[in-house]
Amino acid sequence: MKTRNRMNVIFTALLLFALVPFNMAQDKLPKVVILATGGTIAGAGESSTGSAYTSGQVKIEAMIDAVPNIRKLADLRGEQISNVGSQDMSVKIWLDLANRINELLAGDVDGIVITHGTDTQEETAFFLNLVVKSDKPVVLTGSMRPSTALSADGPLNMYNAVAVAADPHSKGRGVMVVMNDEIQSAHAVKKMITTPVQTFMSPQHGLLGTVIFGQVTYFHYPFGLHTTESEFSVDGVKKLPRVDIVYACADMSPDLIPIMVKAGAKGIVIAGVGDGNMTEATLKAAKKATAKGIKIVRASRVPIGTVLLHGEVIDADYGTVSSMDLNPQKARVLLMLAMLKDRTREELQDLFLTY
Ligand code: ASP
Repeated sequence: MKTRNRMNVIFTALLLFALVPFNMAQDKLPKVVILATGGTIAGAGESSTGSAYTSGQVKIEAMIDAVPNIRKLADLRGEQISNVGSQDMSVKIWLDLANRINELLAGDVDGIVITHGTDTQEETAFFLNLVVKSDKPVVLTGSMRPSTALSADGPLNMYNAVAVAADPHSKGRGVMVVMNDEIQSAHAVKKMITTPVQTFMSPQHGLLGTVIFGQVTYFHYPFGLHTTESEFSVDGVKKLPRVDIVYACADMSPDLIPIMVKAGAKGIVIAGVGDGNMTEATLKAAKKATAKGIKIVRASRVPIGTVLLHGEVIDADYGTVSSMDLNPQKARVLLMLAMLKDRTREELQDLFLTY
C-alpha cells in the first residue's frame, strides 16, 4: 500500500512536471486583438462562383473560427468596431479605432490586427501610422474575395496578419498592410488593381517583407516618421477639418475650387495631371483660395512618383504645397491632421517632406 502511494506521488509529480512547460508555452503566446471593421473579408454572396456580394456581413468571432490553427499563433480575441464596406469608412470610425488601439497597446496587448475593406485600407493605415502612440505592431488585412467565394483569400490573409502582429521583429515598423503573402508599409502601400488578389503594391518603395504561411521575413524599415515619432495626436479630437479632393484633367474647370470652399472645405488636395499640374485657370483659382487661408496641396493622379517642389509650378508663387510621394488620398489624411493646428505654407511643406 505504502509503495503504491509513493508510486502515485512520483507519477503525479512527473505528470505535473510534464505539464508545466506546456502551460508556460501557452502563457507565453503573444496577446493579439483583432479589431474588425468590415470589408469583403467579412463579405458574403449567394454563390461561391458569382461576383455579386455584400461587404461587412460576417462577425469577427465567426471569422476567427474559420481560420485553422490561428489560435496557435497568439492568445487571440476579437472586437467588432464597425461592419461596413470601406467605401463607407469615416473619420468617426478612424477616431474610434485609433483611440481603442492606443488604449489596448498601452496595456498588456502585444499586437493589433485590423480587418478592413481594401478600397480605403491605405488611407486608414496611413491615418493610424500618424496617430498610434506605440511601437507595437499594428497590421491591417482584408481580402479581395468574400468569405463565401471559391478560393476565398481572407482566411490565409488573416492567419498571416496575426503571425506578423505576433512576431517580435514587427516592432518599430509602423502600421503595416498584410495581404497576398506581402508586408507593406502604411506610407508606401497603394491599391493598384480593382479586383484581383494582388491588389496592394508599394511601387515606389518596395515591400517591407513577406509572410508565407505565417513565416515572417523583413527586408526593410519604412520611409517617413510614424507612430511614436509622430507629432500628431487624436487625444480628445472629435472631428477633423474638411479636406476635399479634386481630380484634374484636360480643360479642367477652375469653378471646382470655389465650389468646394463654399461647401465648407478648409483644405483641398488637387490630384493634378503629371507632376501635380492643372490648367492655368485652376492655378489662378488655387492662388485666390490660398490667399484667403484655404490650404491647397498638389498631388498627382499618376500612380507612381514624386511631385517636384520646383517643377513647372513654383508652390511659393501660388501658396500651394507639394504632396511629395503621397497620393491624393494619403495627402488628404496628412493635411486633415496637420490642420488641427494653424500652420504656415512652409510648415505644411515640411510635414510633407517628413511623413
Ligand atoms: N468594397 C470593399 C471594401 O472596401 C472591397 C474590399 O474589401 O475588397 O470594403
